Amino acid sequence: MKEMTTKLLVIGGGPGGYVAAIRAGQLGIPTMLVEGASLGGTCLNIGCIPSKALIHAAEEFERARHQAAGSQLGIRVSDPQIDIAQTVRWKDGIVQRLTGGVGALLRKASVQVHKGWAEIEDGKTVIVKPPEGEPLRVRCEHLLLATGSTPVELPSMPFGGAIWSSTDALSPDVVPKRLVVVGAGYIGLELGMAYRKLGVEVTVVEALQRVLPTYDEELTQPVLDALQKSGIVLHLGCSVQGWDAEHGVHVRNDARAEEFALPADRVLVAVGRRPRTAGFGLESLQLDMAGRHVAIDAHCRTSMRHVWAIGDITGEPMLAHRAMAQGECVAEQIAGKNRRFEPMQIPAVCFTDPEVVVVGKTPGEARAAGLDCIDAAFPFSANGRAMTLEATGGFVRVVARRDNHLILGWQAVGQGVAELAAAFTQSIEMGARLEDVGHTIHAHPTLGEAVQEAALRALGQALHI
Ligand code: FAD
Ligand code: NAD
Repeated sequence: MKEMTTKLLVIGGGPGGYVAAIRAGQLGIPTMLVEGASLGGTCLNIGCIPSKALIHAAEEFERARHQAAGSQLGIRVSDPQIDIAQTVRWKDGIVQRLTGGVGALLRKASVQVHKGWAEIEDGKTVIVKPPEGEPLRVRCEHLLLATGSTPVELPSMPFGGAIWSSTDALSPDVVPKRLVVVGAGYIGLELGMAYRKLGVEVTVVEALQRVLPTYDEELTQPVLDALQKSGIVLHLGCSVQGWDAEHGVHVRNDARAEEFALPADRVLVAVGRRPRTAGFGLESLQLDMAGRHVAIDAHCRTSMRHVWAIGDITGEPMLAHRAMAQGECVAEQIAGKNRRFEPMQIPAVCFTDPEVVVVGKTPGEARAAGLDCIDAAFPFSANGRAMTLEATGGFVRVVARRDNHLILGWQAVGQGVAELAAAFTQSIEMGARLEDVGHTIHAHPTLGEAVQEAALRALGQALHI
């Protein structure tokens, strides 16, 4: 077998692995990256980017249909249609541009990329099995695990045929007439809402009593209102029992001891993702685990010396920007820099309509941590820019310490609020106080003025409400 040596071997070319490899290469570390499927990982190929492309296409189609139904803006459109095959080609074009760009960045950083599946022999030896040809044995000084995660399958409804994973839902062969979505989390609601905008009859089944259960209720209420207004049918507190082509999805409402069937042409199962820890010899390292994910410390070190782990394989929050930040942090440590992965916050954005942003502590979390806090919200109904965008639903909320006004958290719900995440995260990382944001001149008319007004309101000085 051919043998090679390198200082750093990265398994997985998703946002965690490719960022780590680029940074390591920039720092002059001899680096090799092994990817079995496609550079860019889940995020670029079958996750963040394609989902946002489909959501955008669905929004544009809905806008055209809305205008065709008689627009108060005076726009006249007649009978809009969607060619879903062309939509998928457009989305695939964006994915190709981005994944090609990742390959170019890795080359520029002098990273050796090997296409193939990695099989771990020990903490310093990995066998790479290319799609064709002889396997390669790689010996390394540092091993970085960045193998990501896979969608959770329901035993009663394995993926295939009419049962879609998120990957299938992002490359639909047809626009189904009726779609049942299992799980009202990130994927279920982002894609469920997009399919509704494509004209599909969408029903969502969720095991808990709430949609987006990881967010607080005040924040998710506008999303719930939008779901109901759009005609999406919700079955909360229900579990799915199985599926058959004739009757559809078998559902049970445990509280009411009721069973019923939901007819469906396609079923999107989006009940979470599981760290990818099996099938490539990881067990042989006997690393410490934390439940299903690999346990890491504040340096992203595993329990074995010089074996590091980042991204979804290390558990929640399973977000691309966390994986990237961890990747950069590990590369710098291998280069000898003194770094830790201890961010003040990791922003979370849900691309529903309205969008939801959570950064830092919510009022409830601050109280639970024993902090004496003030919080205040400013509604988009009092924001001029929101009116011109026909986007007056939702609000911006700030949480700060009562004694010194240090900002601890921001939350927002509304159209386009994802873009406010940058301002929110920067203010917290920089240790801003309410006065810093409240007395910063914000451009008019922008949605960002609601950020300034929320801070002023917390100080009892709001001007426009
Ligand atoms: P991954 O991106 O999963 O990459 C791991 C890579 O490792 C894969 O390419 C895999 O092929 C490769 N691999 C695994 N095992 C081996 C092996 N043995 N040998 C060689 N290669 C291997 N996050 C956000 O922050 N924002 C979003 O808007 C967002 N939207 C999403 C939408 C969907 C539909 C999905 C499914 C996920 C979304 N996510 C989003 C989550 C995001 O995609 C992940 O958090 C992110 O991709 C994790 O990065 P990673 O590098 O840890 O793993
Ligand atoms: P999720 O954890 O966000 O939501 C899963 C939902 O399914 C939960 O509400 C849960 O209560 C419900 N559920 C679990 N088992 C069920 C069952 N048997 N029947 C009915 N409901 C059930 O998971 P997801 O939507 O699959 O997304 C996976 C991960 O991908 C997310 O946690 C997130 O980390 C990432 N993601 C992020 C974004 C983003 O950042 N915008 C978008 C998509 C995905």
